[in-house]
Amino acid sequence: MQSTFAPDHAPALKVTRVPAFDDNYLWLIHGTGAHAREVVAVDPGDAAPILAKLTADQLTLRGIFVTHHHADHVGGVLPLTRQFPVPVWGPATEDIPGRTIALLGGEQVQIPELGLSFAVIHVPGHTAGHIAYIGHGAVFCGDTLFSGGCGRLFEGTPAQMLNSLDQLAALPGETQVYCAHEYTAANLAFASVAEPDNRLLHQYQQKVSEQRAQGLPTIPTRIALERDINPFFRSRESTVRRTLVSRAGSTLLTDVAAFAALRLWKNEYRA
Ligand code: ZN
Ligand code: FE
Repeated sequence: MQSTFAPDHAPALKVTRVPAFDDNYLWLIHGTGAHAREVVAVDPGDAAPILAKLTADQLTLRGIFVTHHHADHVGGVLPLTRQFPVPVWGPATEDIPGRTIALLGGEQVQIPELGLSFAVIHVPGHTAGHIAYIGHGAVFCGDTLFSGGCGRLFEGTPAQMLNSLDQLAALPGETQVYCAHEYTAANLAFASVAEPDNRLLHQYQQKVSEQRAQGLPTIPTRIALERDINPFFRSRESTVRRTLVSRAGSTLLTDVAAFAALRLWKNEYRA
């Protein structure tokens, strides 16, 4: 069990977690080497907990990454930039307050002063312009991928979301996944119904319930773990298809149709 769920290496990147609202995680990415006290904030939905952390840990804000336009991801941007006039990277096709650098996906974000470099990919589905930042063995994926789940389809199609998740699933297995919400326990309750025959999933669900009972976070997760337990990474597996087919009472012909049915089912699911 230990080797299955524990990372094999220490993460290459130093990242600080800043909890906000009911279940959001805001992330601070630290610079490398001598710049470890300089940070980039990811999806600062609220400025107050970020400011408190900067003060408590004597950190300096050098930039802001935004993944998508929802208020719980951008609400703190202007309050922060009023105090610290730092660059704000965010999706080009969405209304991002204070954005100074617009990204479509396909770019490389370089912050040489901090020794940081991230590839940007377009991951539409939750929102139309949603982007993810990949680098240093980590991905900051906002509300696209969660542990055991994925974001709701507010603006995109099932086909878009399936393609976005396929891109994330193709990252190296050891990639640390910094998503924006602690939804893992509820996601796994659904996952275990969607794929009852997945033994690793049941083991992980047990581990997560112990972690949460102690108030511990389950994020970051890892791509390899998500490939084993996340039904939205596994909608092509025969074990997941079996459940979908028996629920629909008919054969689901395409990968997109199966993924769409899984996402719809999750929307309606109550534990
Ligand atoms: Zn969102
Ligand atoms: Fe969110």
